[in-house]
Amino acid sequence: MAKTQNAASPVTAYVALGANLGDRAANLHRALELLEQSPGIEVIRASTFIENPAVGGPANSPAFLNGAAEISTTLRPRTLLDRLLEIEKKLGRVRSEKWSPRTIDLDLLLYGSQIIDEPGLTVPHPLMHERRFVLEPLSEIVPNVVHPIFNRTITDLLKSL
Ligand code: ADP
Ligand code: MG
Repeated sequence: MAKTQNAASPVTAYVALGANLGDRAANLHRALELLEQSPGIEVIRASTFIENPAVGGPANSPAFLNGAAEISTTLRPRTLLDRLLEIEKKLGRVRSEKWSPRTIDLDLLLYGSQIIDEPGLTVPHPLMHERRFVLEPLSEIVPNVVHPIFNRTITDLLKSL
């Protein structure tokens, strides 16, 4: 008899974390904690937090603290994104103007080497390759991971900014 399919095997994924309101470091730590406590998510490692000026938002937005985390997950991409958005809500994120200050922003950068383009979910994250505040912390933990669309490593993408 054919072997039945097991539960989904874990996929390595990467999440960007950013905060520019409140106690930014505490928000990032709390987000990592909530990720770790989520069923189906294991945090493998996290970068240090790096300060960056706010880009693209309202004038005089406070600076961000940014980080990146490697996770191992059995959740499907859509479920993982929903979990990230739930954690944002739990940490008091209020959505107003585009790119306005926020207590926490969690973006799904990479999900294995999958390429996903659906309403409300694009992976790799469509702006990751042009954002220093994403590539810098990510390269700290996984310099050699390859972006599945550009076929270039994180370090390589960072160098060419
Ligand atoms: P930004 O992160 O660009 O500041 P938001 O955090 O407000 O913007 O996200 C807006 C929407 O982007 C989310 O509600 C989500 O549905 C969508 N989205 C699409 N792809 C992704 C992704 N890879 N990671 C995070 N959000 C995504
Ligand atoms: Mg976001």
